[in-house]
Order: sequence, then C-alpha cells, then structure tokens
Amino acid sequence: MMRLSNLVLCMLLAIGSLTVSARVLGAERLKLLIVDGQNNHEWQVTTPIMQRYFQESGRFEVEVATSPPARHDMSKFRPKFSDYDVVVSNYNGEPWSQAAQVDFQAYVFNGGGFVVVHAANNAFADWPEYNQMIGLGGWNSRDEKSGPYVYFREGAIVRDETAGRGGSHGSQHEFLVTLRNGDHPITSGLPPSWLHTKDELYDRLRGPAKSMEVLATAYADPEQRGSGRDEPMLMVLDYGSGRVFHTTLGHADYSMQCVGFITTLLRGAEWAATGEVTIPVPDDFPTAEKSSARQ
Ligand code: ZN
Repeated sequence: MMRLSNLVLCMLLAIGSLTVSARVLGAERLKLLIVDGQNNHEWQVTTPIMQRYFQESGRFEVEVATSPPARHDMSKFRPKFSDYDVVVSNYNGEPWSQAAQVDFQAYVFNGGGFVVVHAANNAFADWPEYNQMIGLGGWNSRDEKSGPYVYFREGAIVRDETAGRGGSHGSQHEFLVTLRNGDHPITSGLPPSWLHTKDELYDRLRGPAKSMEVLATAYADPEQRGSGRDEPMLMVLDYGSGRVFHTTLGHADYSMQCVGFITTLLRGAEWAATGEVTIPVPDDFPTAEKSSARQ
C-alpha cells in the first residue's frame, strides 16, 4: 500500500513538473483579450492584423471585446478582464462605465498584464489610474497638469516640466528605433537599433511616468516636423503587481507589418502576462539599414 501511494505520489510529481516545464517552455497558451470599438484609427483593420500575429505565434489564445460605437450606451460594456492573462488596448474613445474602470484597475493592480498600442495612449485623459498605467499619453487636453514631457538627451532620461500641450507627431516616415535597455526580457537579443516601417513618430507625450522604464527611443527629426528629441517608443511599467508594456508604434496596417513592431508586440504581451519572454527574435528582424515587413 505504501509502495503504491509512493508510486502515485511520484506520478503526480512527474505530472506537476511536466506542467511547470510546459509553462517555462512557453507551450501553454496565454489568454489574451484585445479591446477595441472606438478609435480615430482604423481599428477594424488593425485589430485583425494583431489578432493574427498573436495567434500565429502559437503563444496566445485571442479574444476580442468590441465596445458599442461612439454616442451609444456604454453602460453594458464590461469585459471580464480577470479571465485573461493579458489585455491589449486598441481603444481610443469615450469613457468606459465606472464599473468597467474599477474592474480594469483591479485587474491590472492584482497582477494582470496590459499592453497599450499607439492611439490607446490618447484615451482617457481624465482617468488618473489609466494614466498611471500607461505612463505617458497625448492629445485630449493633456498638458503640464498631466505630468512632465519625457525624452532622452545625451543618453540620459529627462523629465521636463515645461508648460505646453501633450502629444504631437510629424509626417509619417520610416525611422530608426534605438534600444536604451537591451537587457530587458522584451529587448534581449534585439539589435541596438533597427529601421521601422512607415509610421507616426509620437512626440511630446506627457504623463505621470512613474514606475516606468523606457526600453527604446526614436529621434523625432525636425525635418519631418518632429520635436528634435529622442522620444520614448517602447516602455514598461509596474502598476500594483501588474505589468504594462506600452508601444507608441502602430499607426496603420503598414506600421504594424514591421517585424520590429510584431516582435516587440508579441514579446511585450508575453512579458506583461508572465514576466518572462520565450518568443524568439526572428531571422527576418530589421537591421539599422533595412526595414522588414510581413503581410
Ligand atoms: Zn496614429
């Protein structure tokens, strides 16, 4: 009898360690929710693109929560965030109900993963906790009351309290994205800089920028009507025990097709969900000289 229970115990331990190995190896699919429904960008085009990239990676099981259109009743839009390992926002629209806001804050604070994509950082200028999560945002009356401008100068981060509006961009173009920390799980193994496909280069963002690390910047060239600063492009933040990955990239389909965007999006979402990254850097990753896009 004793020997039998030992055998059972051994089997249970073996099954347990297999489960752990599967998780470590990234074989377990993470539950990911994309939120959309209102955006001054073509979310009907970009959500399916991101959904496909997430699914093709084999690492995520994706669902989408689409809000009612603008000027419709938002009171029943209340996704069950806590069912997911990571939530990706492709939403830039009207305020959510108080209940949905409280749910979302609790979800991230208690350890949920959150990924902010491009214009999702324009959303909810009047929701303080959301701005804590995203660190920096733009437009919708953001100004010095929202927090400092954050950028890099001579290799060091600057928090600039100068008064002025938050959020602008010059003309769309290909630009270099430069790592500021290549040792983070999301950026480990990436080249020090790479040429990103045509996109809006967000500049002059402002926000509380607390518990935030800038992983990569891009130079907003005045010749392209940019700020003349090295602007944050990829950021990570802590909110309670939750992890946030913020990419300012991804204006349109052609911006999201950049292998640099895809790779950092997938790895950022995996990191936000688990704190680790198993998704490899692909062979077709762009170089500093040549951008690289996928359909
Ligand atoms: Zn845009």
